[in-house]
Amino acid sequence: MPTTTNKDYYATLGVKKTATPEEIRKAFRKAARRYHPDVNPGDKKAEEKFKEISEANDILSDEKKRKVYDQLGFYSDQIDPAQAEAYARQQSAGGGGRSQVDFDGFDFSGFGGPGHQASQQTGAGWGSFKDIFSGIFSGAQHPQQPHGPQPGTDLEYQATVDFWTAIRGGQARLMVNRQETCPTCHGQAHTGGVMQCPECNGTGQVTQMGGRMKFNIPCPRCNGTGRASNMCATCHGEGTVTRSESVEFRIKPGTRDGQRIRLQGKGNAGINGGPAGDLFLIVRTGMHPVFTRVGDDIQLTVPVTVAEASLGAKVDVPTIDGRAQLKIPPGTQNGQKLRLRERGVENAQRPEQRGDQIVTIEVVVPHLQDERSREIMRELAKLNNQDPRVALFEKL
Ligand SMILES: [Zn+2]
Ligand SMILES: [Zn+2]
Repeated sequence: MPTTTNKDYYATLGVKKTATPEEIRKAFRKAARRYHPDVNPGDKKAEEKFKEISEANDILSDEKKRKVYDQLGFYSDQIDPAQAEAYARQQSAGGGGRSQVDFDGFDFSGFGGPGHQASQQTGAGWGSFKDIFSGIFSGAQHPQQPHGPQPGTDLEYQATVDFWTAIRGGQARLMVNRQETCPTCHGQAHTGGVMQCPECNGTGQVTQMGGRMKFNIPCPRCNGTGRASNMCATCHGEGTVTRSESVEFRIKPGTRDGQRIRLQGKGNAGINGGPAGDLFLIVRTGMHPVFTRVGDDIQLTVPVTVAEASLGAKVDVPTIDGRAQLKIPPGTQNGQKLRLRERGVENAQRPEQRGDQIVTIEVVVPHLQDERSREIMRELAKLNNQDPRVALFEKL
């Protein structure tokens, strides 16, 4: 509702142009008591008058707004005091009157326009005024902007990949719920052409009751444009629908647990032609009953006999590439770790580089079943009468 009518707010409140803020406050309170709709139920004239004095108070009680008004003879949120002064100077220099200032394009909506706060000056006893106003204007303060293209959001999923796929690489699949562009409205959120808004019958305005007062406010359905479209029934006006999708992705050889894989454009669909977000997969690598993977190394426990451990031996051990021969040095102790160089996992970043296989030796003590074996063992103990606990007592 553009209006360029200049109003004399000072006359409305019955104060001089030189009135102090205190004088303005008093004048408003006096007038408000007289014209408040609660005191004048059903009185249209009083209601109009009350609107006028509230508007006048809104402008004159605000130092910045009053300054703009004093310079130009009207107030708009889009003009700041400095601008107003510049305009006024320009006009007086050119000899033109204020009425010739060209403010085309500015919204001079008065009382009902956005940005006109409820009068805070009404004081404690007038709380009901404030309640009425804040209720009415809260909707109009932040007019909804028409939706431009918006990028889709990113998605993050954990993807469990089996032990061997993580080591050797390959393809993996994961079910992902993602927002896709609505197939019915192609992301437009509405179907059919633009029509007259059914809420306001194309006027762009609806009447809202505030207590016993009626106010015209911009239509919330069409944001005051008077035009609306049918909301898409498939996506309920979202422009996107949620779909379960099986996403296939490539796993590089040597992919580690916790590694992130980014699938560009596989996140949620954008709105109004905006680009889709990305899908981030956090890889969880599976376990193996024999091999334990630590980074690019493979850990494995290998049992050996007392004879193998004490005399030394060459034993076959499993590796991720199959069997390999491990040399057990003479005198190998239980728990000792032996390294098979470059028998671990290929590095995902530097494929020419491989981890090691680390073998933990587990000496298996034999259960001697026959007298001859026990005889030999006793003999052996006599020949090697070392006390393995000597060191223990020395440290006491
Ligand atoms: Zn409407
Ligand atoms: Zn749709």
